[in-house]
Order: sequence, then C-alpha cells, then structure tokens
Amino acid sequence: MARVRFAPSPTGQLHLGSARTAVFNWLYARHTGGQLILRIEDTDLNRSENQYTDSILKDMAWMGMDHQEFYKQSDRFEIYRAHCDKLLEMGKAYYCTCTKDDLIERNKKKGITDEITKYDGHCRGNKAKPEGQHVVRLDLGEDRDIIFKDVVRGRIRVNTKELDDFVLWKGDNSPTYNFAVVIDDSLMKMSHIIRGEDHITNTAKQIVLYEYLGFPVPEFAHLPLVFDKDHTRLSKRKGSTNIDYYRRKGVLPEALLNYIARLGWSHGDDEIFTVPQLIEYFTLDRLNKSNAVYDEDKMIWVNARHMKSIDIPALAKHFGEFMEEAGISPVGRMTDPEWFARAAEILRERNNSLADLYEDMKAYALDKYEMTPEAQAKLAELDSEPGVKEAYPAAKTAAIEASASGNFDGLEDKLRSLAEQSGVKFGKLVQLLRIKLTGKTVSPDIISVIRLLGKEASARL
Ligand code: GLU
Repeated sequence: MARVRFAPSPTGQLHLGSARTAVFNWLYARHTGGQLILRIEDTDLNRSENQYTDSILKDMAWMGMDHQEFYKQSDRFEIYRAHCDKLLEMGKAYYCTCTKDDLIERNKKKGITDEITKYDGHCRGNKAKPEGQHVVRLDLGEDRDIIFKDVVRGRIRVNTKELDDFVLWKGDNSPTYNFAVVIDDSLMKMSHIIRGEDHITNTAKQIVLYEYLGFPVPEFAHLPLVFDKDHTRLSKRKGSTNIDYYRRKGVLPEALLNYIARLGWSHGDDEIFTVPQLIEYFTLDRLNKSNAVYDEDKMIWVNARHMKSIDIPALAKHFGEFMEEAGISPVGRMTDPEWFARAAEILRERNNSLADLYEDMKAYALDKYEMTPEAQAKLAELDSEPGVKEAYPAAKTAAIEASASGNFDGLEDKLRSLAEQSGVKFGKLVQLLRIKLTGKTVSPDIISVIRLLGKEASARL
C-alpha cells in the first residue's frame, strides 16, 4: 500500500508534464490500494494563486483522479519554521546575510566570474540571528557523495561539490521548496516519491535533510522527461498542453489518462487501455528510462479509439460536460437522451473528439442543416446525371416508406435494384440521398442515416 503524493505549485494551469506526474502517482496509489495525497506547494506567496489551485482540483477531478488527503503548504509555515529552528540548534543550519552582490564581489577576487554562483559558505557557523534581512542556509558539511537508489535509474551518486549550502528559509519569511518538501514528505509518511527527472539534484539536497533530521528516506522514482517532437522540453510550451485545452477540444478524460500513462511507462506494445486496466498493470518496474515524446496526433488517435469503445452513458456524460465547458447547448433532437444515444452510437465511429461529434450531430439533430460547399458542388453534378435523376423519385419513396413504417429491412436491396434499373452505380444514388439528407458528402451508411433521421428524412428528401 503506497502513500504517494502529487505536489503541484499553483503558479499556472495544470499542463501535460505535471499531469503526467499526477497520473503516475494516482495509478500507483490505486494499483497498490494505497493513498494519494494532493499537496499544494504554495510557499512562494508571490507566484501562487488560488485560481490555479482551483483549476488543478478541477482538472484532477475531471480526469477521475481522486485523492485521500489534501494539504496546502501555506497552512503549515509554523511546522516548517519549527524544523528550521531545530536545524539551527543542531548546528546544521546557519543565518546568512550575504547578498548576491557580496557573493559576486568575493568571487571576482577569487577569479570566478560566473553570473550564477554557488554560495561559498561565507556565513557558515553563524548562530546569532541577524537584526536585518537574512536567510537560513543548510550546512552541507564535508564534501562527500550522496548516494540514493532510484527505481528507474538505479544507484545515483551526486557529490556535494555540485551543490551548495542551499537556503531553507527565505528573507521574506517563507520556507523554500527543497526544505518544506522534505518536512512534508516525512511527516506525511510518503512511501514513494514519483516525480520528474529534473528533480534529481533536488533529491540529493533533500537526502541531506532527511539524514540530518533522522527521517527515513522514501523510495524515489524519477520519471524520464517529456519532450516535444522538436526536442524542446514540453513544459516550456505553454497553453496548448494545458489539461484545460484538451477538455475544450473534446478529448475524453479516459483517453487523456491513457495517452499520458504511456509517456514514460509501457505494458508491452499496448497502446489502448481502459482505466481499470491501467490500474491493474501500473507497476514501477514498467517505467521507461528513455525520454517520452509528446505527439498530439497520437493523442487524437487514442481519443478516437476511446470514442468508439466508451459506454454510451459515459459518453453522454462527457458530452454534456464538454458542451458546458465550451459554452454551447444541445440543439434540436440532441436534447432527447434516447435520440442522443442512438445518434452517438452511429456517429462516434467517424468522429475523433466530442467537438467533432457535436458538429457532425448538429446536421442530424436540427430540422435545418447547412450544406457544405463540397456537397453543393457534388449535388449539382449528380442532379445533372440522367440515370441518377431517374432513379431518385423511387428511391425517395422507398426511404420515406421505410422511415414511416420503421422497417428498414429491405431498403438497401431496394435501392440497389433501383440503381441497377437506371444504369447508375449504387454509390452515386446513395451519394445523392446522403447529400440531401445530411448536407455532407460523407456520413455513416445510408440506412443508419435514414433510420436516425426518422420522419425528418421525408422532409429533407
Ligand atoms: N512543487 C514541485 C513542483 O511542482 C513539486 C516537486 C516534487 O514533486 O517534489 O515541481
């Protein structure tokens, strides 16, 4: 039974990269029958905003990722401060009054000209609380290797020379990420820390804190990074990879979960999973070492597959949420749940998203439809073809009769023989019916279309 956490900083919308961390933690919690803790890391009071916490909660709920405990770091400053004081007392932390300029100045004298500089330990051992502006830094101690085991990458070794005496407590009287995260992960009894590989250096720093405070060190699993097709880090490309973007696009949450789960995890060559399957198969030994590549076309493909297999009531629920989100309403016959279910069953085969489904369904749901320019051109072409013209009246009658009686059994054969009698291809006759019935040049099979339109078919023919 794992205890894991998702710990986003509410400084922006939930994007695919951090949602991936959420998905992996959630799946692992579910797989082991454990708990997921949602912890809002809002120690940076200037950059954190409540609206982002709300949107993260909304996105998690939409994706069906529940959590068992919820914390906000801004409610826990006293806890962090108490641990900071303890480290000061232990001599493992010290007060520091150096400014960035002080450090640059000292470094210049030593011939170091880098702009980004590691702290040089100047204030080490300073136990007296300064009057003015100051921070509290951790004393890393002697140079040594910090070694930890990572589930994905095996043994990781980081030398303290690569780190510096990092800040625990900032000048604005708030804790840093690296400090608060250790206190919380320990007090909240996390068994596994599953997060992006970009945190490996942070993990090394955090291990020092675990050791100083005598906290047991959890297991770590650092996930490979997610890159865009052009090899840039995904998190850098904002907007189009926010979870909100997919919801508005009409992506099913199950499909998004499925797609995201494959970014750094695999189960053979399988691509399509239901949520229960993901939960069943999700083990950490299946995490990938190599970086994942985000491919929107593939995501749409995964969505199309889920559109075809999802239960109709679940599809209806997502469709309702999609319309609400997009600020659009069901139109015409779409408001009838029974009609919607029939229409969705037929039309989902050819629509890759809820947005596409909505647009497509409108043509069947409303009494009026707009004919596409393509359909108009084709209609003119077919209308001037003598054989098609000749077959049409009887075809129309047959279609109207079938929809009036509700018996569609012989309709296709009837249309085939009418086409044959007039010496035209069946496909051409069907194309004419299709355009008149739907205003489009493509549709599901013509019998399904007539069946779906019911009495409305006669008005259109
Ligand atoms: N708040 C951190 C982030 O969003 C959490 C990192 C972690 O999982 O420890 O990157």
